[in-house]
Formats: sequence, structure tokens, C-alpha cells
Amino acid sequence: MTLGYLEKGYITLEELQEMGFVPPPERVRKGPVAFIECPQEIPCNPCVEACPYGAITMEGINGLPRLDFEKCNGCGRCVKVCPGLAIFIVNARGRYTVWLPHEMLPLPERGSEVVLLDRSGRDVGRGRVVAVMSAEENTRSSIVVVEVPEEWHLYHVRAIRVV
Ligand code: SF4
Ligand code: SF4
Repeated sequence: MTLGYLEKGYITLEELQEMGFVPPPERVRKGPVAFIECPQEIPCNPCVEACPYGAITMEGINGLPRLDFEKCNGCGRCVKVCPGLAIFIVNARGRYTVWLPHEMLPLPERGSEVVLLDRSGRDVGRGRVVAVMSAEENTRSSIVVVEVPEEWHLYHVRAIRVV
């Protein structure tokens, strides 16, 4: 298993691909699906517990979360409970949207333009906030849904900067 992300401080799409975390484009084109980016074997499993469809499994508490892309319907429950902000939802059906866990306040407003940032924090374009789901009492993160201009962005945008 590659550990280059520990030196760089962020993981690359290629490393995620190598570890089997990347949903196939044909699945993403069918509708929303989770994109889990959790490469470290740490004792954590709220995502497994949160999924009502049994789409996430793990071999023991230190295992890596494994997603059955076909069982997942992109509901976002796992995104809200992940303490590592390591789960995103991507969707290429109708329009390109990325659901991002978001803990910073104030939350961006629906309809506002935001800067799209990749895993390394690099500016990779502009998007528009199409929905904001606030954290609830029993969840951890809010979710900001951003419409992005290209399918490419679904695999690279992992944060936003409010402008
Ligand atoms: S998005 Fe919903 S269905 Fe998919 S893994 Fe997360 S909780 Fe399960
Ligand atoms: S809840 Fe988040 S950090 Fe914990 S195992 Fe699941 S994806 Fe990883």
C-alpha cells in the first residue's frame, strides 16, 4: 500500500484509485454515490453504523471502509457522521454536483458562487452552491452541495472557499 499521502499531507486520486476507493464513472453517471477517502486503518466506524442500506462494510474496527457502489443511493447520512470529513457524494446525473462535509461557519448561502479547491487546496475553478444541509443534533457536519462545471471536478473538488 502506498503511503505517499502521509508525506505530502493529502492523498491523490491515483492513490485512492489504487486502494479501490474511486466509484466507477458509469456508476457516478447513474446518480449520487458516496466517495470514501479513508486510507488509514484507524479504530473508527460511524459510517458503517450510519448506512441504512448496509453499503459500507469493514473487516474489524481497524479495517478500511469498503463501499458497495451499487447498494449506495447517495443519501449522505455517512457524510454527516464521519469525524474525518472523509466522505463525499458525487453525482453526474442531470448536472454535476459534489456534496462536501462542511464545518466552518457561517455556512455559504444557497445560490452563492464559491471557489473550488482540490485535495491539495489548489483553486480549480468556480462553482455554485445549490443546497445546504445543516448539521443536526446527532450528526457532526453540515453538507454543502455544489454544482461544478465539469465531470472532472467530481473527482477532484474536495473543499470550497467562500468569495
Ligand atoms: S450515502 Fe447513504 S447509502 Fe451511501 S454509503 Fe452513505 S449512508 Fe449508505
Ligand atoms: S467514519 Fe469516516 S473516518 Fe471513520 S472509518 Fe468511516 S470514513 Fe473513515
